[in-house]
Amino acid sequence: MTTTLDAPPLDPLLDDIVRTHRPQRESGTVPTHIPSLAAVPFNRFGIAVATVSGEVFTSGDAYVPFSIQSISKVFTLAMALQREGPVSVWSRVLREPSGTAFNSLVQLEVEHGIPRNPFINAGALVVTDHLMKETQDAASALLRFLTEEAGGPGPFIDEAAALTELSNSSRNLALAHFLKDFGNLRQSAESVVENYVRQCSIMMTCEEVAKAALFLARGGIGASGTVLSRSEAKRIGSIMLTCGMYDAAGEFAYRVGLPGKSGVGGGIVVIVPGHCAICVWSPRLDAKGNSLAGSAALADLSDRTGWSVF
Ligand code: GLN
Repeated sequence: MTTTLDAPPLDPLLDDIVRTHRPQRESGTVPTHIPSLAAVPFNRFGIAVATVSGEVFTSGDAYVPFSIQSISKVFTLAMALQREGPVSVWSRVLREPSGTAFNSLVQLEVEHGIPRNPFINAGALVVTDHLMKETQDAASALLRFLTEEAGGPGPFIDEAAALTELSNSSRNLALAHFLKDFGNLRQSAESVVENYVRQCSIMMTCEEVAKAALFLARGGIGASGTVLSRSEAKRIGSIMLTCGMYDAAGEFAYRVGLPGKSGVGGGIVVIVPGHCAICVWSPRLDAKGNSLAGSAALADLSDRTGWSVF
């Protein structure tokens, strides 16, 4: 780490990041299988930095709720590790970059139903299946976790969005049926996918996501105590770095140099270990399903601050 949090001053820096990266014209895409995401204005842009010392810096649309989508996968992995322990989780999902799209079916059949990592859809379905062992309503358990870590009642499940995604979930159902056929799903394929899309449909602001992810920057210590051990928190960061952006993980590591996780709602959360958690949100996506303006802003922020794990 080459720079401390107080140099350069964060408030004007974040304001400048918003001025520079807020989209001026419509470019990029929105996912076709989640109709609710198409309605979000293209020029939304928010950023929040939550520091390990408890400060929060925000700019732009940092207090506008957005659909966290696959950012949820970081938190469900943490919950599964917390509840079931690493041996149980890692016997059913690997920790290798996939190099394929987040919802690809190809690898899963070739590799006999063991997903490459917990941050692609197949892996997240297995993690959801783990959580459902304890409670059938794993999405509500995730919501409680996020509400506690974010420190307020803000996060909520957009049930209407979840229902429309569910009716467009043939691909996720196909993944779940593959997993079931290979003996890597305990619950029914339908119930796991239903829970999974409700997790993805959680609405949070940049400020809330940054605060909720802070335990990963703080060696596993969350809002009210230990979430995970220091080494488990480090390992989640490692998986974010290698797998958090799907088939753009290498490019993101090159540009930003920080562990990150994106969602097709346009949010990206990144961790600066020992310093802060950052969430940026802008809804239009690149061809790999990652926020166009968000990725550019994080590359710029890490260049200007020196925040990087390298
Ligand atoms: N709910 C989305 C899906 O399953 C999440 C994908 C994502 O954010 N990359 O397709």
